Amino acid sequence: MARIYVASLSDYNAGHLLGKWIDLDGKDADDVQDEIAAMLRTSKHPNVRVRCPDCEHDRDSQWCIPCGGYGTVPSAEEWAIHDYDDCPDMGENPSLEALLEQVRLIEEHGDAWEAYTECVGIKYATESGFEDARAGEADSELEWCEQFLDDCGTLSKIPENLRLYFDTERYLRDMKYGGDVSFEEVNGTVYAFWNH
Ligand SMILES: [Zn+2]
Repeated sequence: MARIYVASLSDYNAGHLLGKWIDLDGKDADDVQDEIAAMLRTSKHPNVRVRCPDCEHDRDSQWCIPCGGYGTVPSAEEWAIHDYDDCPDMGENPSLEALLEQVRLIEEHGDAWEAYTECVGIKYATESGFEDARAGEADSELEWCEQFLDDCGTLSKIPENLRLYFDTERYLRDMKYGGDVSFEEVNGTVYAFWNH
């Protein structure tokens, strides 16, 4: 379950911890923003007034109890993400849209997506880049290389009695240091990505 811990900065700066774990699965940016706003309205160190959530849809409600009919309630303004659980760490103030997009991509592509973001850096990881770069997965780099040589028929071009002299490890090393392919291990599986 992907979630973030969002803290109120005016409370934090006053030495008071106010924050909330917010689940991200299946939510859009507005849902998350609403939950953050609700947390900020419980601040002990408010520094702004925001529209009252209890009467904002009903302007005739003069006797709204939470805001006393003012239409606004006190709230803290600034927030920051202070912890991440089961989702990529995008710093203290990411765009919520970008963060939720990451959550969706992990849900869609699993560990392979995580491996890709480790490989290219989260800021550069796009879904089309991922699809272009993806080069399969295996239990080890060497196993991946054997599979690759098999798939492209390279070994079958070598006379059978000479095949055992083929140095797969060296071939793999050259592929890696030549910059053709990158590997990233996540949860015991090695994911391969083309670099071009
Ligand atoms: Zn109100």
